Amino acid sequence: MEIFHFPALACAGRVIHGFATRKGGVSEGAYATLNCGGSGDMRENVLSNRKDLCQALGLDPHKLVCLHQVHGIEVVRVGPGGYTPSERSAVLKEGDALITREVDLPLAIMTADCLPIILVDPVSPAVGIVHAGWRGTLQGILPRAVREMERTLGSLLPNLWAGIGPGIAPCCYEVGEEVAGPFRERYPGWRAWLWPGREGRYRLDLARANLLQLKELGIPEQQIGLVGRCTCCHPSLFFSHRREHGKTGRMMSLVALSP
Ligand SMILES: [Zn+2]
Repeated sequence: MEIFHFPALACAGRVIHGFATRKGGVSEGAYATLNCGGSGDMRENVLSNRKDLCQALGLDPHKLVCLHQVHGIEVVRVGPGGYTPSERSAVLKEGDALITREVDLPLAIMTADCLPIILVDPVSPAVGIVHAGWRGTLQGILPRAVREMERTLGSLLPNLWAGIGPGIAPCCYEVGEEVAGPFRERYPGWRAWLWPGREGRYRLDLARANLLQLKELGIPEQQIGLVGRCTCCHPSLFFSHRREHGKTGRMMSLVALSP
């Protein structure tokens, strides 16, 4: 298994977190090997992979909280006992961010090019995790999650730490006018992370766009970590929706307050 961490987010052992890669696990073919979600793979393999990952991090797989991710802006606050285990997709809530101040409740997001972003407030304490693709980034899912932590969990923005996980980077992320146009319209500072490429297309730097959203909220840049690896460029390390034309697995990112 190969899992990305930021030492600062661990808060001296009070927070458990990780951005898993595809390494480890039992899945085969397009889903090899640590596939933790999506559709197409055998259910028992996905559950076995999730269990292995949770155990590697010292977390209870039965407490895992997942979402039915829909590229929207719904932030789900998880109270005592969670809202449901992750086993049956039919009972999953729709949303793209999870926040909690409960201990021993692992929050999970699945990605394969979109960005997983972990939020940690060591003071309250509280944690959150966000799924940000281009739609979520455009609509501001990350600032919404941060504001929900502030509003409902009492987090103060200067106390927040963030880790931006692996996602598709501008080397591979070319988008059309239907994506670039709405960004230019909504964000006057778009030139910092969106630039013209060939034949009327654009290169989009999702990680930088989200990093700047955090900075604009007043979260100090030295409290923001960036994995900075492109999921599309590294087939042995990451699943990539774009590289594999949709037929691929999902990597799981996790955060929990230590029991
Ligand atoms: Zn790339």
